[in-house]
Amino acid sequence: MNIAVFSTKSYDKEYFEKYNIDNLHTFTYFEDYLNSKTTNLTLGGFDAVCVFVNDKLDNEAITKLAANGIKLIALRCAGFNNVDLQSAADNNIKVVRVPAYSPEAVAEQAVALIMTLNRKTHKAYNRIREGNFSLDKLIGFNLHNKTVGVIGTGRIGQAFSKIMLGFGCKVLAYDLYENMELIEEGVKYVTFDELIDTSDIISLHCPLTPETHYLINKETISKMKKGVMIINTSRGGLVNSSEAIDGLKNKQIGFLGIDVYEQEENLFYNDLSENIIQDELILRLISFPNVLITSHQGFLTNEALDEIAKTTIENISNFEKNIETKNEVSINN
Ligand code: NAD
Repeated sequence: MNIAVFSTKSYDKEYFEKYNIDNLHTFTYFEDYLNSKTTNLTLGGFDAVCVFVNDKLDNEAITKLAANGIKLIALRCAGFNNVDLQSAADNNIKVVRVPAYSPEAVAEQAVALIMTLNRKTHKAYNRIREGNFSLDKLIGFNLHNKTVGVIGTGRIGQAFSKIMLGFGCKVLAYDLYENMELIEEGVKYVTFDELIDTSDIISLHCPLTPETHYLINKETISKMKKGVMIINTSRGGLVNSSEAIDGLKNKQIGFLGIDVYEQEENLFYNDLSENIIQDELILRLISFPNVLITSHQGFLTNEALDEIAKTTIENISNFEKNIETKNEVSINN
């Protein structure tokens, strides 16, 4: 099949070519985001588009893609909140994704944010490079015996919970469904209110849906323990950034670690070091000493990139051969 790949980075190309054995498919790589303004790039006889987290496939974009002959949207990520599934169904376009390329990759990124914020290794690294061996203001806390609240115990939340149990933490969880394996390992399911009320660290691992949009807001922040650490490696829209800034200013939030940001599509994955950044919220967030931001890199491990490329190519081949796949997403699931 002929596939237009959007938001391409060098590693996407490298891993796709590695697994496109015998040139089974033809990939054309675009660095541009796919949205309603860039659909013209698919005019060259493509059958499918391959997209990532910040491509925006709303009704306008999907209608244009259908008119250009696109029959498949192959997401090379797990989340699909950026695709209008109703519009895809109306336009007879199938949507496939990579549901579980490496839950550990994202769970470990959440742990990296916790460890860095807590033990301030990023500050120690910079200090020592300048010959400053002082320990002043580097005090952290033991994770052992702390209470960690996990919101969403699917694949990533489960991997994360197990790591935190290994640290000797008490792990509380909130999800629409309880995971028996986690209960057996010592995780305790509680109500959302109990979780936010009693956790020292809260880590978000649920998808972005209308119900979870701005789950972390002024009201929920006010119910948390003073000095709470909030970690978001899921989707930016789970946290109301402006109200999180207020929580940081009044010290209700003690630490904030985010791998995702609600307006990330204008920033993340780009080198803007010579630009004047116009996004006031991210600039304010960057200014806090107790905020750590990474640029949506939870998926960025060799193992995850291998799985993403393999599964995406398999999804495309299955579509071509009309084989049903559990990786299809539709308005019904
Ligand atoms: P998953 O589908 O396996 O698990 C999601 C869990 O959230 C499920 O158990 C579900 O029941 C639960 N859930 C749904 N709605 C909820 C609600 N309202 N309240 C509480 N729990 C709710 O998904 P996953 O593979 O674990 O991925 C989780 C999220 O991580 C994805 O939706 C995606 O947004 C994000 N993600 C981020 C990166 C990254 O690079 N940072 C990479 C992959 C995925």
